[in-house]
Amino acid sequence: MGLRALIGRLRGLRAAKTSRDAQQLAIEFTHAPRSGAELLAQLKAMGLRGVRALTLTRNRSVMVSLNDGTLRVHRAFLAAPESVHRAIVKFLMSPRRADRLAARRVLIAYPIGEDERREPRAPERTHPDDEGMAAKLSEWHARYNVERFGGALKRVTVRVSRRMRARLGHYAPAQHGRHAEIAISRRHLRRHGFAEALETLLHEMVHQWQDEEGHPLGHDRHFREKAKAVGIGGRAKRVVD
Ligand SMILES: [Zn+2]
Repeated sequence: MGLRALIGRLRGLRAAKTSRDAQQLAIEFTHAPRSGAELLAQLKAMGLRGVRALTLTRNRSVMVSLNDGTLRVHRAFLAAPESVHRAIVKFLMSPRRADRLAARRVLIAYPIGEDERREPRAPERTHPDDEGMAAKLSEWHARYNVERFGGALKRVTVRVSRRMRARLGHYAPAQHGRHAEIAISRRHLRRHGFAEALETLLHEMVHQWQDEEGHPLGHDRHFREKAKAVGIGGRAKRVVD
């Protein structure tokens, strides 16, 4: 066989293999993923990298989050169309903030069925006796924003929570008509003191930064890098008790 013919044959073989792969992919995608593992395989085929495991959740407050290589996705997304699955990949992988924010809008717009939703709890308000402390934390939010985040963060309500028992603090993104907010546990303030609570405030401000940058919430690489940059450890929050 001449060289030209050999090259031609090799090209043909490669073309055949590619089309077989494409066919295989098409077969695999003819049904919606039925499990977290199937969804993960599908997202990887769409270009997702750096995720080791996928957990399906019913937690409607965060639809897609990433912690140490484990992606948490609301189970309603199993039945989502391919365009929405592509938006998950774009949200997690795009180097451009505008693209990530656009992808997140697709995810937020995807309806999570009422049966999948837990009844939303009435929003908690700061107890009147804790309002002074909440105001003080809000002042620190403004100060840290200028000193550590270059003034990039939006002003958010910082409140003191009496409901929060296991957690030290919480950042909630804007959703269902509510504004974004940070809550700091009153129990944490009383047990560990104000200096420790300020560290928790900074931790939650890093989550706020993730949200405003269009990154998924969670303790991933973006979180650790930013936490280090603003002067706190990148560890996940401790649990009270
Ligand atoms: Zn955290």
